[in-house]
Amino acid sequence: MDKQGNKTELGDSLLNRINAKRLLFVIAAGLGCSIFLHFAVQNFRQSKAALKDAKIELGSFKVVEPMIKYGFVMDTFMIQEQVIEENEFISDILTSYKVDYMDIEHMVTEYKEVFDVRTLRAGKPYTILNTDTTTAADYFIYEPSVYSYIVFDFKNKTVERIEHPIEKRIETASGVIETSLWNTMVDNGLSYELTAKMEDALAWSVDFHYIQKDDRFKLIYERHYIEGEPVGVGEIKGAYYKNFDNEYYAFYYENDKHSGFYDEEARPMKKAFLKSPVQYSRISSGFNLRRFHPVLKRRKAHLGTDYAAPRGTPIRAVADGVVTKRSRSRGNGNYVKIKHDKVYQTQYLHMNGFAKGVNVGTHVKQGQTIGYVGSTGLATGPHVCFRFWKNGRQVNHLRENLPPPESMPAVDIPLFNVVRDSLKTELDKIEFKHFRKVVENEVGVTADSLQTTNP
Ligand SMILES: [Zn+2]
Repeated sequence: MDKQGNKTELGDSLLNRINAKRLLFVIAAGLGCSIFLHFAVQNFRQSKAALKDAKIELGSFKVVEPMIKYGFVMDTFMIQEQVIEENEFISDILTSYKVDYMDIEHMVTEYKEVFDVRTLRAGKPYTILNTDTTTAADYFIYEPSVYSYIVFDFKNKTVERIEHPIEKRIETASGVIETSLWNTMVDNGLSYELTAKMEDALAWSVDFHYIQKDDRFKLIYERHYIEGEPVGVGEIKGAYYKNFDNEYYAFYYENDKHSGFYDEEARPMKKAFLKSPVQYSRISSGFNLRRFHPVLKRRKAHLGTDYAAPRGTPIRAVADGVVTKRSRSRGNGNYVKIKHDKVYQTQYLHMNGFAKGVNVGTHVKQGQTIGYVGSTGLATGPHVCFRFWKNGRQVNHLRENLPPPESMPAVDIPLFNVVRDSLKTELDKIEFKHFRKVVENEVGVTADSLQTTNP
């Protein structure tokens, strides 16, 4: 037991020594480890931070693509973008960018066929490109419209006009009248340009002064795009208009002999007489044999139709003819009378003034401006009193059944019918867009996206 006890003692002390050694080792090892770990962790943290930094760098890194405009790498230039000021000449602009006056004069004369500097318009944008602003500008780029730009190259002393390639897409539009045609077009995001073109296409069939709530229209038209951006409305290809129970179709057709809008029977839409002498006007007083006269304060037959429009609005001849009177009287104010044929004459009263070149004996074309809306003579406000004479008697032109124009020659009709049928099929497929409701149409264009062409 004793031996064992000693042994135990010895063993214990040995064990203790070993343990102490071990402990030291463990401590040393542990210390080493922890130091190692400390550094390792620190290293890891650092590398993690470094990684983070790297990520930030990666995140903010952009692939720099050269900015190309007008065919130039813009990054290589100092760029000045301006607009033409009122009464500013090209020489004013260019001399301020140190371009030699003789160079300007030479280029303007030499290249006047390419670009006539007199067409420079206030408000239009231009760009000056320069590699060194202490010396003369390198390029002057003028953009008269979205369709083209003009480059003055002062190094090579050349002027060049570059047309943007136009992509023409066929699109559709439709609407249901709530209050007015204009409001309906605006509410559907359709442009003024498209409204005017629709009126032109249908002007001989639909009297846009008598449009009603629930009238509806559909259009197939060309839209112009430059670099994917819509820039304008091209030709209307087909139009449909429903007014009460009357349906009107207009199909654009063009061949070597004919061009214009035709109805379903291949008759030209263009009639001998326009429906009204003023576009975008409203009828303020109709033809009435028992009207109470607002100025004379008594009953007096109103033998004309009054179209109210802002002072200065152009008045158009409703048909081809010869001016027989260009005069002034107390009641009529300034007025013009036109003889169209043996049967019909028209008269336009209360003009603010006459159009240039309109005199007695002048041959005028349908749609030609003959004067401007005013309130001369007996008138309460600016309007045209439009008078329609048939065999020497004044009649209500809106009640006249004017002879329809003849259809195109029979030989041309089969080809026309092919175009008509395809357009009509497409028109009939279009669904009506209601007020404030944007519906995607079949070519995937929404009324919203059409809004961008609004001038
Ligand atoms: Zn009148």
